Amino acid sequence: MRTIIVGAGIGGLTAALACLHCGIDVEVYEQAPAFAEVGAGVQISANGSRVLLALGLESALKSLWVEPTGKEIRLWNTGETWKLFDLGVVSRERYGAPYFMIHRADLHRTLIDAVAALKSDAVRLNSRYLTFEQDESGVKITLEDGTSVRGDVLIGADGVHSQIRNQLTGTDRPHFTGCLAWRGLIRSSLLPPNFARPVGTNWVGSGGHVVTYPVRGLESFNFVGIIERNDWQVESWTARGTHEECAADFEGWHPDIHEIIRNIEVPYKWALLGRQPLTRWSFGRATLLGDAAHPTLPMLAQGANMAIEDGAVLAQCLSENASVGQALSRYEDFRIGRTTRLVNGALDNAKRFHNPALANGAGAKKYVEDEWQEDKVKQRYDWIFEYDATRAEEAPRMSGMTAAMYRS
Ligand code: FAD
Repeated sequence: MRTIIVGAGIGGLTAALACLHCGIDVEVYEQAPAFAEVGAGVQISANGSRVLLALGLESALKSLWVEPTGKEIRLWNTGETWKLFDLGVVSRERYGAPYFMIHRADLHRTLIDAVAALKSDAVRLNSRYLTFEQDESGVKITLEDGTSVRGDVLIGADGVHSQIRNQLTGTDRPHFTGCLAWRGLIRSSLLPPNFARPVGTNWVGSGGHVVTYPVRGLESFNFVGIIERNDWQVESWTARGTHEECAADFEGWHPDIHEIIRNIEVPYKWALLGRQPLTRWSFGRATLLGDAAHPTLPMLAQGANMAIEDGAVLAQCLSENASVGQALSRYEDFRIGRTTRLVNGALDNAKRFHNPALANGAGAKKYVEDEWQEDKVKQRYDWIFEYDATRAEEAPRMSGMTAAMYRS
């Protein structure tokens, strides 16, 4: 089977690696002329790391990741701190896999190297996808330079602005969520020594929240600051802002937040757009994966994790089903209920993280103690972290919602 993947992001590369492990031939077409280093971290929870470890990446990733001891909740103005959940050995014991934080470029490079070790010319750079056609015998994609390529299956892993999604399901109508995400990396040596802890922090406040965590040993620090603001609607990894503008958005927040903002290398801004979950994404020999299939808000830190899960499940479906059509519809059945629940869960978390009750004093404290009770936290996160995408047959049951339930 010749599988064409469009997009060499975390999702496309994981799918390529998983397919190669299953003995399925892949070609990955990526528009970028070279892999640029996106300056940001990513959190990989047990449901994502379980797949990466099954693909043999533990030794390569181990020297690059930070395995935090836990995550905490802090109040935006006083800095008062509560436990969110324990990680480290607890994640390994409870979910059977680690939770780690990593520089995106390090994870990306590891995936590229692993794919290249199995098929050296699998990834074709400078190959911008334009369109595709399909018939009973196969698919044909056309690239911007006029080249066309035939294969048996097309996987659209072309990210949040997916052209393949538009071709399959009609033009996207995203809605602006009213939130802007500030993003940046900070060298830890520029921060006071007490910042260098292997812990992730979610600062919560009325109308905004901030997520910080270490990457590259404790050498760097990742900052994502999300604030409700209506005047910036560009969804981009590369749009720059200024330190002053970012600081103004978090006026009145704890001095630790301002210490971090002052030291961000380059503050980037990203408008958060929401999209209705799709009710279908496999059509004949073409399907979608990752952000192309189920773009999500970052409030559960699950976009990359879902893309990784998709890759593992898709490879299993392609290797275990007699026909391509059957494999893709099974893949969609396994994935659509869970990913829809995650997309909706991220929306709910936005309301929780930005709740007006967090504005002040005793009300804020009571809100945190109530919303982040241990039982409630377990209910919100266990079903996410427990999921085992390496055993697709069990996936619908473990996701807590089957495709049939979702569609009814
Ligand atoms: P992408 O990474 O976007 O890759 C798509 C690829 O397709 C790109 O390389 C692109 O160049 C290529 N492409 C696009 N169009 C074409 C074309 N026409 N032809 C050829 N190639 C094309 N997720 C987590 O799990 N944990 C986190 O902690 C986390 N934090 C986040 C913080 C922020 C601020 C944001 C915005 C997102 C965060 N996410 C997180 C989400 C995560 O980054 C994405 O869900 C994930 O990167 C999606 O991967 P992907 O492979 O589907 O898409």
